Amino acid sequence: MPNPKAKKRRIELTKTEKRHESLKDVLKPEKDSTDSAEAKDSSQQGRPHIGILAIQGDYAAHADALSESGAEPSEIRKPSQLAALDGLILPGGESTTMLKFLERHGFFEVLAQFCQTHPVFGTCAGAILLAREVRNPAQRSLAVLDAVVERNAYGRQIDSAIVTAETALPNGPLEMVFIRAPRIVETGASVEVLARREGFPVLVRQGQIMAATFHPELSGDRRVHRLFVEIAAAGKHQPAVHD
Ligand code: GLN
Repeated sequence: MPNPKAKKRRIELTKTEKRHESLKDVLKPEKDSTDSAEAKDSSQQGRPHIGILAIQGDYAAHADALSESGAEPSEIRKPSQLAALDGLILPGGESTTMLKFLERHGFFEVLAQFCQTHPVFGTCAGAILLAREVRNPAQRSLAVLDAVVERNAYGRQIDSAIVTAETALPNGPLEMVFIRAPRIVETGASVEVLARREGFPVLVRQGQIMAATFHPELSGDRRVHRLFVEIAAAGKHQPAVHD
């Protein structure tokens, strides 16, 4: 039976893929108008302030998802902007491109330190950046998530899929949009697996660190972002202790 919603979703996915392609080698540290960790009106008080690393990839969709999930989002392009945050999202995109930017702008070490003490959620390329070890090919990472990740693990061509499956989140099946996704091939004992695809973990949590190999920001379902916002709200002003 043709499902118009499914068709629409496929079209949206294609657009997203195109955006990924065109953003691939573009580093655009635009002059930002959102240098606004300060300047909050009273309606925003109490909402955790969550940054999205906004150097490349689909950070805008994360900002919308965070707003809808009870957080106050802001785009982060400079290491100095991290100080005001209760949590951070590392979005999807191209992990190699993001890594180069982080290394070139003195961001890598500051971010690694931030991840030791704050909630951080990596989606797709962001999950690759968080992993303890990256394969296919090997690349440097922040190594704050006890997991081994294989890049582009679903084939050499652009591989995209929408999978709807039961997860550990309450209230029924979750739609998961995969775009040239990595695969989590190993996880340590302290990593909780919240969802799987073909037996491999696709949504995991290790204390204040969360990672998804799919793109929760591209689905209308906000349960994944809400979970991260809850973690950030709970961790406000309480640095995490990692072993
Ligand atoms: N294939 C990308 C990488 O290896 C990740 C793709 C994505 O974020 N959608 O970095």
